[in-house]
Amino acid sequence: MAAKSSKKVVSAVEAMYGENVFSLNVMANVLSKKAFASISKTINDGGALDPAIAGEVAAAMKDWAISKGATHFCHWFQPLTGTTAEKHDSFISPDGNGGVKMEFSAKELIQGEPDASSFPSGGLRATFEARGYTAWDPTSPAFIKEGEDGTTLCIPTVFCGYHGEALDKKTPLLRSSAALAKQMDRAGKLFGVKAVTKAYATLGPEQEYFLIDKSYYEQRLDLIQTGRTLFGRKPARHQQMEDHYFGAIRPRILAFMEDLDQELWKLGAPAKTRHNEVAPAQFEIAPIYERLNLAIDHNLMCMELMRQIADRHGLVCLLHEKPFAGVNGSGKHNNWSVVGPDGKNWLYPGSSPHENAKFLFTLIAIIKAVDTHADLLRASVASPGNDHRLGANEAPPAIISVFLGDQLTDIIEQLEKGEAKSAKSGGTIAIGADVIPTLPRDATDRNRTSPFAFTGNKFEFRALGSNMNPAAANVVLNTIVAEAIDELATQLEADVKAKKDFNKSLQALLSATIKKHKRVVFNGDNYTEEWHKEAERRGLPNKKTTPEALKAYEAEKAVTLFEKYAVLTKKELLSRYEIYIHNYKSVLSYEAECAKTIASTQIFPAAVEYQAVLASTVKAVDEAGSKAASAKDVLGKVSKLADDLAAGIKALEDAIESHNTDKMKASMLQTRAAADELEALLPADLWPLPTYAEMLFLY
Ligand code: ADP
Ligand code: MG
Repeated sequence: MAAKSSKKVVSAVEAMYGENVFSLNVMANVLSKKAFASISKTINDGGALDPAIAGEVAAAMKDWAISKGATHFCHWFQPLTGTTAEKHDSFISPDGNGGVKMEFSAKELIQGEPDASSFPSGGLRATFEARGYTAWDPTSPAFIKEGEDGTTLCIPTVFCGYHGEALDKKTPLLRSSAALAKQMDRAGKLFGVKAVTKAYATLGPEQEYFLIDKSYYEQRLDLIQTGRTLFGRKPARHQQMEDHYFGAIRPRILAFMEDLDQELWKLGAPAKTRHNEVAPAQFEIAPIYERLNLAIDHNLMCMELMRQIADRHGLVCLLHEKPFAGVNGSGKHNNWSVVGPDGKNWLYPGSSPHENAKFLFTLIAIIKAVDTHADLLRASVASPGNDHRLGANEAPPAIISVFLGDQLTDIIEQLEKGEAKSAKSGGTIAIGADVIPTLPRDATDRNRTSPFAFTGNKFEFRALGSNMNPAAANVVLNTIVAEAIDELATQLEADVKAKKDFNKSLQALLSATIKKHKRVVFNGDNYTEEWHKEAERRGLPNKKTTPEALKAYEAEKAVTLFEKYAVLTKKELLSRYEIYIHNYKSVLSYEAECAKTIASTQIFPAAVEYQAVLASTVKAVDEAGSKAASAKDVLGKVSKLADDLAAGIKALEDAIESHNTDKMKASMLQTRAAADELEALLPADLWPLPTYAEMLFLY
């Protein structure tokens, strides 16, 4: 028998985890006690770094980065383009004698001044004020990005204009987090909890993606240019066998996943789950949840790494929401919850009447928030890519409703009835007196069709697209929940002041709130036609396309909300609306252009080539005195489809010319219909594009 070793075994994972992060662990070793205490407090409370310690932090950060091979630093930020941005500066500073010293000042750590003129601002920034500012967000730690030959110190920052206008996605996220924390603080006081932290939201984003072989990708102009296939016939076998989901992971894919997990772990991003998804060649990665701001930064790093690592494996990672028509698209499930000032998850139904009261208060505040601002949640997930998913019976519909599950619905219905003694069926729940029955986690997680589902200890907003920065959705979520809690807390505070019994007040308030907002609760199948009718009857909005959905951002209701909680000014909000509309039009225009190019330069030539082959066959066979009936038949079909294709190309040209996005969509579909039929008729060696079967099954 092996002797029991007392030495702790450090696994390779433990050793590598966070090695590229200037984390609290690292800072504890390299900063003075005073500086460490100050920065720890900043990280917990949010806000800016204390200038008194900035010099010490910058020096320590530089030494640490150089020890990791860094030659450059960059401010890493999230402009309104949808991706991340970075501009690198080296640490070198000439010493005057022909050599250099490596330098990095407090100012360089805290603030950068990239030229903002080429980033979208939606009219926020006059061109003469081209200067933008980046400022370190210490709640997200600096990290090292590894290159081929050397590394770069990356400092997560916000990005603002000259007058402090938000030009990015992180600034409103931080503001909305502060708004939520403030209201949760009031709730904490009302419930008499012991405050141990500032309240914060948590996020665990589940990320779906496709991987295909790079050699096919390189032959598809549509994938290269638009991220999705604009043509392609559904193959005989696609996902009907339902054998891909959770199937054994192929070695080549596993190698990619192992690489990805390790790179994420080095960055302190807690990658946890990996598996095959529903569609062939589709996969998912999910982390362990973290504080919202950090979780979003980690999700953005994850998306960037996925693209890079795929390349190392001769693969291409497709993050588009709908790379292949006819098979499932990719989403991002936004698992969100809120930790109160007591350091506890307030969406966790506890085992005491007090815990239950907090839980029901939070749950009902969220129901109220979602019902009041369903239009904003919808707008926050609107994008041209996501338009292909929402409502396509694979993702939740564009109607935002809340799934609670039967048991929890029963509980809130009891609560709605209040302490009515005459309740016939079931019991009633009395706040402050009753413990709600334990909710089996499994029972609450069955419904996969709901866009906004309670899943045991969190809400899962499932309508996000795979390619999105989750910030926009969480800005809305934080802000609308802050407003709901504000309104409930205001009433309760007044009751407390009037010396009313707290539990009775809460009971009455929650009961009235449920009555008013329960129309948003739906536990059935969100894919059915009946639900669409029912939702319309209930007055729930159903905005099917991005331009319709985005209108919510322009509405007075949104302006009032975001201004009240100091998340976005009217100008900032409207600038976003403008950018997103512009983005929608741009995407449709380049998709239409690309479809036109492929149809006219690749597919049409192949069709007429086959026409010529068939025509000469018919002629030759006729001349030889035989009948070429079948060749003639196919020639007729090919000729008709070639004409249809040409008509589609013409329609595309007109749509592009008139800048009409609806016509672009229609003519892309028209062109595609002819092309996909041609694909079924043309000789395989004449077909100019890799097929769906090749791309989805040979990787
Ligand atoms: P499922 O969606 O199948 O229920 P899990 O329960 O494992 O799967 O969770 C999915 C994601 O939700 C994971 O990223 C997980 O870390 C995250 N999650 C779990 N609890 C919370 C929470 N309290 N707040 C935010 N995210 C959470
Ligand atoms: Mg999930």
